[in-house]
Amino acid sequence: MDLDLSQEHELLRNTVREFAAERVAPVAVELDRESRFPYELVAEMAELGLMGIPIPEEYGGAGSDTLAYAIAIEELTRIDSSVAITVAAHTSLGTMPILMFGNDEQKREWLPQLASGEKLAAFGLTEADAGSDAGATRTRAEQRDGQWIVNGSKIFITNAGTDISACVTITALTADDEVSNIIVPNGTPGYTISPPMHKLGWHASDTRELSFKDVAVPDGNLLGERGRGFVQFLEILDGGRISVAAMGVGLAQGAYDLAYAYAQERKQFGKPISSFQAVQFKLADMATEIQAGRALVYRAAWLKDQGRPFALAAAQAKLYTGELSNRVVNASLQMHGGYGFMEESAIARLYRDQKVLEIGEGTNEVQRMVIAKHLGL
Ligand SMILES: Cc1cc2nc3c(=O)[nH]c(=O)nc-3n(C[C@H](O)[C@H](O)[C@H](O)COP(=O)(O)OP(=O)(O)OC[C@H]3O[C@@H](n4cnc5c(N)ncnc54)[C@H](O)[C@@H]3O)c2cc1C
Repeated sequence: MDLDLSQEHELLRNTVREFAAERVAPVAVELDRESRFPYELVAEMAELGLMGIPIPEEYGGAGSDTLAYAIAIEELTRIDSSVAITVAAHTSLGTMPILMFGNDEQKREWLPQLASGEKLAAFGLTEADAGSDAGATRTRAEQRDGQWIVNGSKIFITNAGTDISACVTITALTADDEVSNIIVPNGTPGYTISPPMHKLGWHASDTRELSFKDVAVPDGNLLGERGRGFVQFLEILDGGRISVAAMGVGLAQGAYDLAYAYAQERKQFGKPISSFQAVQFKLADMATEIQAGRALVYRAAWLKDQGRPFALAAAQAKLYTGELSNRVVNASLQMHGGYGFMEESAIARLYRDQKVLEIGEGTNEVQRMVIAKHLGL
């Protein structure tokens, strides 16, 4: 057993860490305050090859593995969640479905522009009445004269409405009890995108409601086999969970870093608060749990990279790191006292950005349902 990362993985970690510290950290507060999408950072990340880490080189990606991808997402989230989820949703939800289920033509059409980061893609599964129960999709696609005519709506969709969004893959009923995935290009008549939704956190990430009214796309935009949409999106979510779990570790690490520094700087009763054992114990617990969470994430990524079953490991990593990040960000803010409650403190932004890690790509409860099913219950 070798727990050391390879030189390539270490190099990538250092590159992303440096990028996050030098390019993301100085603008994160402003992007959050202005709810501004980070176009400049996306362009820089595209240059660095971060917008298609696990996508093969033949399609313009970095041709790296899931572990590398998880490490990059962790390092970005350590500094800013909005930037990290932009990359994660684009990669796992926007690009991966086309790589996994697309035919040659679809791959050639979409992957180079997506994997290079020139354009972004989204995945639209959630509807107003179909969240955890994603199979309750109401959006319909009817085949007519060589086209699919789509009617319905989606909600809370990441990356669908930026100036550089190319397409969204949506789940739709193609018959009663038959779900399929269909690619809808941005700009197709009848496909409307709401203004950005106002959120508790992830202010600089793009989140929209989508509406489809007699939207006609070619027959060839069906992704994979007709009627396999349900199985496909479950597989997509299994993989996506590894990146959200990596966000949980990254956010916890970022909150720990802030607490560690503040505890040594802040003096009360004539001493730095880090000299009080109650504070030291909190930091000790945080550091320990973060190591445990990171090990779960790396294991899930490693299993996927070995081509072995990883769905259980991914759900366990997502559940554990979602709750871990909640505990750590809460303890870190507590350690910041009243200053932590002020908008200008970095920990306040991390605190707001944390909660959705226990909701998106399957709530904590849904992860427990998935885990229980894998345990044979
Ligand atoms: C910022 C943001 C970005 C998102 N991006 C995307 C995206 O890009 N694409 C996309 O398709 N979706 C996206 N989502 C949607 C997200 O995946 C859903 O919000 C999530 O799956 C939960 O669905 P819901 O919000 O409808 O909650 P609900 O399913 O209504 O759940 C409400 C509560 O009930 C609980 N619950 C539900 N069923 C059960 C059960 N059987 N047993 C126990 N408890 C249960 C849930 O755990 C939760 O606590 C995004 C959401 C957010 C907030």
